Amino acid sequence: MIELDLMPFTLSGLDTERPIVIAGPCSAESEEQVLKTAKKLQKQDVQIFRAGIWKPRTRPNSFEGVGKKGLAWLQTVKKELGMYTSTEVANSQHVEDALKHDIDILWIGARTTVNPFAVQEIADALKGVDIPIMIKNPINPDINLWIGAIERINQTGIKRIVAIHRGFNVYNKSLYRNNPKWHIPIELRLQIRDIPLFCDPSHIGGKRELISPISQQALDLNFDGLMIESHIDPDNALSDASQQITPETLGSILSDLILRDEKV
Ligand code: PEP
Ligand code: MN
Repeated sequence: MIELDLMPFTLSGLDTERPIVIAGPCSAESEEQVLKTAKKLQKQDVQIFRAGIWKPRTRPNSFEGVGKKGLAWLQTVKKELGMYTSTEVANSQHVEDALKHDIDILWIGARTTVNPFAVQEIADALKGVDIPIMIKNPINPDINLWIGAIERINQTGIKRIVAIHRGFNVYNKSLYRNNPKWHIPIELRLQIRDIPLFCDPSHIGGKRELISPISQQALDLNFDGLMIESHIDPDNALSDASQQITPETLGSILSDLILRDEKV
């Protein structure tokens, strides 16, 4: 067992009776797309909005995010709708820019968790800051890189840390875009007992029809929350089009999920 100095993932007014849901587009594309999506998600009782501003694409020459200007759009979501906002950071400049724009929660992506230098740079930029940080598993199935990233962020003084399971890259793709290898997040929770664990069915499944069954499996395994990509026009999304769902579809998936307490 690894003893870390953690606190529960709490934010004022956040409903923690049910699994926490974070939703929003893979990428912020325009102010209109961001605001429209957020409004529709709020109607589905989503309280935390996500959108990628800096997109770590595996290959060059595809959409790499709108950059810093998207942070102002997230601020508008927060001001106009009162939703919590979250975005991915991959270096100290991102952290500085996101904090300047009052982003509520930051996350470290799978391509950053693999790199201890980058994680340490982010940790150093967070010194003295009290903000929840979500740490996705590394793209490769190396639990120690995941644990190491969590330790680095915790050592800087951050106590509200969430681990996000987004599956693992494997050479031979099968059903999943990223193989869930559920035993790895379960092992993580055995090693770091108090860490809240969320599931990202969008990046595990890679396709719309897998969002519901993967979310249910996560809840059956007692995960604490879900991060799901949602776009007002998924077919025309600039990144991860095949896995994004509309806010309405998200709403119906969420209302069909069976919670553990309801199972008996
Ligand atoms: C994302 O959340 O859009 C993303 C890039 O995810 P990951 O780091 O899990 O690939
Ligand atoms: Mn994505």
